[in-house]
Amino acid sequence: MQIAVVGSGYVGLVASACFAELGNEVICVDNDSSKLAALQRGEVPIHERFLPELIARHRGQRLFFSGSLERAVRASQVIFIAVGTPSRNNGECDLSFVEGVSREIGRAMNGRKIVVEKSTVPVCTSDWIRKIMLLNGAPRSSFDVASNPEFLREGSAVTDFLYPDRIVIGADSDTCAGVLRKLYEPLICRTYARQKDAVPAPDDATTIPQLIVTSAKSAELIKHASNAFLAMKISFINAIANICEAVGANIEEVCEGIGSDRRIGKRFLAPGIGYGGSCFPKDLKAFRSVAGEAGYDFRLLDEVIRINDEQCQRFLRKVRSALWTLKGKRIAVLGLAFKGGTDDIRESPAVELVRALVRELAEVVAYDPAATERAREVLADDAVTFGDNPYDVASDADALLILTDWEEFAALDLERLRNELKYPIVIDGRNLYSPELMSELGYMYFSVGRPDAMPKERDVTRLKKAG
Ligand code: NAD
Repeated sequence: MQIAVVGSGYVGLVASACFAELGNEVICVDNDSSKLAALQRGEVPIHERFLPELIARHRGQRLFFSGSLERAVRASQVIFIAVGTPSRNNGECDLSFVEGVSREIGRAMNGRKIVVEKSTVPVCTSDWIRKIMLLNGAPRSSFDVASNPEFLREGSAVTDFLYPDRIVIGADSDTCAGVLRKLYEPLICRTYARQKDAVPAPDDATTIPQLIVTSAKSAELIKHASNAFLAMKISFINAIANICEAVGANIEEVCEGIGSDRRIGKRFLAPGIGYGGSCFPKDLKAFRSVAGEAGYDFRLLDEVIRINDEQCQRFLRKVRSALWTLKGKRIAVLGLAFKGGTDDIRESPAVELVRALVRELAEVVAYDPAATERAREVLADDAVTFGDNPYDVASDADALLILTDWEEFAALDLERLRNELKYPIVIDGRNLYSPELMSELGYMYFSVGRPDAMPKERDVTRLKKAG
């Protein structure tokens, strides 16, 4: 199929590369000229596993990058809108990019096409896209508007796209649903997975993804409701972790106990410093506002947001109580991205915490495997320095904080790390290590919802860096 994808961000670029991988001819459009130039030179502007390989495989063959939405629309049967839908100051979703793109698509129409929302949008947006296209000259019978929400997660976006749990197609006509079903057929029937050069399936991939065909409105709601539910799960377990801390229980044991109920499940029961990123924070606010407009006061979401906001503050208090005063202390920070596997720092709790430490006049030295460059830009005004590896930043630090769940951070040489630190203090916002192990290794170790661990050895000073 001839496809246009509008927006070459985390969703648009991954979708473009994956649709090309499935055999389609794809034009990926962006109006950011520097991003476009980089893509046209073969550079990959985001950190995402398997993405550079897919782009290298298809660029110039089946995958093209363009600044002309008009040409892309005219050359395509299906047009995916994957532009940003950020928050406005009042929490509502800013749909101006979606509106601008719909206007341009309406003006460029030259035959039958399907316009698909891939961006996360409030329910009823498909009606608005239809109206805007009609107002801009698209003949009524020449197009369908469908919703195909994206569930990929940054850090595993390519495999999430190619091996999804489910594919939701929100279409208001059978023909339109049929075209989109055909597009996803290699994933639904798993013929893609059997291709000899296919991107390998993750171990936990479902054998056959579920295809869910709904109305456009239901599909729009599915995406907002999914993100709200996942965020609620995070805030819920963070609240339980806070109770564990207060009474001396262990959140890991509690998670094991509640997660083994199949109605609840173990996944996403991971306490920490709260959710962040470009989706949950904005989508919750947008959903809250959409519900309000629909006449439902969704106060549960306020509480989810409140617990999340508080989680960072609680962690900061934990740092203070481990170190007493922060002024002048050298603090090593591992992790700046909002989660492991990505370079995305939008709404990252790690960045928020770094800023808070700097405000308290701590000297922060940070390391992230992929997000340092982006963090350097947003933290340019703050007194933060960046190291080349975890041991480098730990050198002579008063304490080390773990703020992102990178796999690399869960596999550190802990003896070496301890010898680098001035004091063997680790405050782990992602629960990457077992308190028992850290205690054995001579650390003072503070994590989330679990008992603090103190060094097995009596004489802590013995563990200080030699000299
Ligand atoms: P992004 O900010 O990384 O990318 C958006 C891209 O759209 C940018 O490159 C921007 O230049 C481009 N753009 C904006 N206006 C344009 C226009 N008029 N013409 C052409 N290009 C234009 O955003 P993202 O993270 O890819 O998210 C896109 C949408 O997908 C959002 O609605 C988001 O909520 C949703 N989503 C994101 C994720 C994720 O993990 N990032 C997952 C699922 C859904």
